[in-house]
Amino acid sequence: VALDEGLKKTKEGFFSKITKVIAGKDKVDEEVLDELETALVSADVGIGTTVEIIRRIEERVAKDKYVGASELNRLLQESIMSVLTDAPGNEFETFELPADKKPYVLLVVGVNGVGKTTTIGKLAHNFKKAGKSVVLGAADTFRAAAVDQLTIWSERVGVPIVKKEMGSDPSSVAFDAVQSAIARDADIVIIDTAGRLHNKAHLMEELSKIRRVIAKKMPDAPHEVLLVLDGSTGQNALEQARQFTAATDITALAVTKLDGTAKGGVVLAIANQFKIPVKYIGVGEKMEDLQIFNKEEFVDSLFS
Ligand code: GDP
Repeated sequence: VALDEGLKKTKEGFFSKITKVIAGKDKVDEEVLDELETALVSADVGIGTTVEIIRRIEERVAKDKYVGASELNRLLQESIMSVLTDAPGNEFETFELPADKKPYVLLVVGVNGVGKTTTIGKLAHNFKKAGKSVVLGAADTFRAAAVDQLTIWSERVGVPIVKKEMGSDPSSVAFDAVQSAIARDADIVIIDTAGRLHNKAHLMEELSKIRRVIAKKMPDAPHEVLLVLDGSTGQNALEQARQFTAATDITALAVTKLDGTAKGGVVLAIANQFKIPVKYIGVGEKMEDLQIFNKEEFVDSLFS
């Protein structure tokens, strides 16, 4: 699914609200900005990020003295872009891997149902397509379905998977997966983990054990800890990001299910709020439907 197509509902939702704010106004005043603020919050942009966007618009309005409402759209786009530009990310454009980290160890975390397994499958596909050799590790040993799903993806994409029987120690699966990737001289190993957020102490303990055990095999690994968030849950995704970042070091974010939701504005909040780069976005269920997040493209397709 192309980005424009994937963001269709968000675009409609977002802009119907903004168009209503602008309609019939001849200048940007306090009242218009208040309404715009409400519209952005209801488009899932989040309070903190909305305030930041409005502040930047206000600065521009103050500087330019008089701003007609017709210019508000452009001003809004520029302010959103400048907020995103200040957020980390966009450091890569293709599915590349650092040459000095081989195998690149990618740990994937997130609550069940957010699209974690699908994202892993899509990543495996994309890295394979980019000519990289991939190994999967099924370290979510708490749900048989998780291992089954990941196995299906490994077959679909055509990459090996390391797994053990249900209830095995997740860290031992992670260890074996890294070991197998080293033995195969693989470029990347992508490890699935259980997302049991209901028990934060457990989650922290489990993830830190996985990290410790991986580091025994490869001292600088994991190289990336990717948190998968379901964009269609809007503010819930923000709350999950808050909880996971408090529980462990997250280094990158993936936001899924942006197709079919009007809540895609949450990507702006997620990108701005956690100072962690949004690396990937999911815009469909197929293996091709994972994109590297590009701030400019994202904002452009919201406003095009
Ligand atoms: P997990 O429990 O987090 O591993 O979630 P799954 O990967 O099994 O995904 C849950 C559901 O969300 C499945 O039906 C997926 O096909 C669907 N899904 C995952 N990513 C996307 C996406 O980007 N777009 C859409 N439309 N569906 C997705």
